[in-house]
Amino acid sequence: MYYIDYHTHTKLSPDGEVPLMEMAEAAVKAGLAELCVTDHYDLVDQDGKPEPNAYDWAPALEQWREAAERYRGRLTIRLGMEFGSANRYPDRARATLDQPELDFVIGSLHNLTPEAGARDFYFVDYTAPEVCYACLDDYFAQMLRLAPLPDYDALGHIIYPLRYMCMRDGQTVSLDRYWEQIREILRTVVQTGHAIELNTYNGRTTTDWLPVLKSYKEVGGELITVGSDAHRTENVGKGVPEAYELLAQAGFRYVTLYEKRQPRPVKL
Ligand SMILES: [Zn+2]
Ligand SMILES: [Zn+2]
Repeated sequence: MYYIDYHTHTKLSPDGEVPLMEMAEAAVKAGLAELCVTDHYDLVDQDGKPEPNAYDWAPALEQWREAAERYRGRLTIRLGMEFGSANRYPDRARATLDQPELDFVIGSLHNLTPEAGARDFYFVDYTAPEVCYACLDDYFAQMLRLAPLPDYDALGHIIYPLRYMCMRDGQTVSLDRYWEQIREILRTVVQTGHAIELNTYNGRTTTDWLPVLKSYKEVGGELITVGSDAHRTENVGKGVPEAYELLAQAGFRYVTLYEKRQPRPVKL
């Protein structure tokens, strides 16, 4: 089985500490064939203000080249980015991604819009279901605007806010009222040649993806990446075999790799 992990963070992410070399060693130990490093760069900060600095590619390129060279023949290492709020500043998005070595871009939304308070979903205190639904209304409306843009390859962790609403803060929320919108987002993803990712959240959210996968399949979705969202070595590859099984169960036959932002299917 050709196992991949296409969502991982290193010390170059504000919430990461591990050098890529150590993540690569962990990937080999976890039995992965391919690892994509996707450090964070968001166009807005955690309070929703425009990020003042352009992305510094130099350290990212340096650690990627060193690790790719060291692991040649044992592990393919791709250079990616988890790119937040691309929809907010399209010109800056294009300039950021103008990097010929870049293999893969996850398009993520970590922040509410300014109209909804602008904060990172992580920092919201989900005290009641109504708080959750107000955030989800804003989240999916934003995702509908992000989906057709060219500034990503795979739409990141579609069910992201549920991590904090349900798993952390213990709220019970249902996506029932959003399925029409989610289907529209997935349809747009398919029509514009993008992928979605199955994000296992360190192996914790695998089966939660089944309804999204079924909906994606229904609208003709085929391109899909798999990632653990690991920020530490022990989480590299977590949930990937289970994700492959779930994909097969949902009727998918391929997982998608990216090289220089071109998708390539590989049999599950
Ligand atoms: Zn993310
Ligand atoms: Zn991430």
